[in-house]
Amino acid sequence: MEHIATTPSASADLRAWTPVQVDVELKKLGFLLDDARLDMDRLHRFDRRTRRTVVRDGVTAAEVRAARHAMNRLRAQAAPLEAEHDRRGGWTRAYLVPGPDGHIHASTTCSTCNRRGRPTMFKWLTEFSGMDEATVVEAAGERACTVCYPNAPVEVLTRPSTIAECREEARKKSSRAAAAQARRDARETERLAKAVTLDGSPLVIRFEDTLWNGVCDTRVERFATRRAAENWATSTLFHQWYAQDPGRGDDMPRPYLCDKLVRALSTVATHVAQVSADASTPRDVLTRWCAKARRDAVKTGWMPWVEALPDPDLTISPEELPSLIPA
Ligand SMILES: [Zn+2]
Repeated sequence: MEHIATTPSASADLRAWTPVQVDVELKKLGFLLDDARLDMDRLHRFDRRTRRTVVRDGVTAAEVRAARHAMNRLRAQAAPLEAEHDRRGGWTRAYLVPGPDGHIHASTTCSTCNRRGRPTMFKWLTEFSGMDEATVVEAAGERACTVCYPNAPVEVLTRPSTIAECREEARKKSSRAAAAQARRDARETERLAKAVTLDGSPLVIRFEDTLWNGVCDTRVERFATRRAAENWATSTLFHQWYAQDPGRGDDMPRPYLCDKLVRALSTVATHVAQVSADASTPRDVLTRWCAKARRDAVKTGWMPWVEALPDPDLTISPEELPSLIPA
């Protein structure tokens, strides 16, 4: 914990030190003081009953004395350095707020910082200590705080900073932006690969459908993906088989698959064929759907008659469907 100023030698007259040398030393002492405060905090706890900070159980008075001594020693080492700064009437200092959009300030008490009761984190840029404001602003570029540096020229404020920390943050920011763009591109590629239309937009179809009770109704279907469109098509065909149940009796309406629904299926098949990588025609697509619907119908075991299809009762059998669609 013992820290002795060494640059230049501790015995050297501080009057000969440059502002940078003084502040580098103060910065080191500041870090050590932060550590010493943490050590002190670890020896204590907050007592809710008395609402006071008390020494933890098992901690000896000697340990607390040693921690306090370490803090006092560091403060004593910093005091002559602070006094030298004051003796010269102060000098310029620069502080960076870390982060891609953090500014460089002339003081840690800038009115734009420490807002809403939250202390701002600063990185002390000691290499700029004692430098004239124009040099700091020139290096800070777009990161210069306009409250701390009200005279900063507009053209400088639009330039990227040349300060190493800022350049590194800018590099990380642009690589993060590039990675985010790559992720967006990958998502878009994936979306297009799953889409049912060539431009990736959803496919919306409107058609007149004859319901089970013979009523004609306008239906609207919207498909964002090819899979959704295919599920709808095979499910529609599946229900076509189901509607042909010979056990339902002749009084039940049968021609579920009206020609308008056929046209709707045909529209969807045309789009699916366009986005298929295997040069399918709409007719190929419909044939696949019919086969799938038939397999599904047989698999359920609910419709034993399906295996004997085509059913002569069908107004339009799914097997006939492809032949209705222009190739
Ligand atoms: Zn500022």
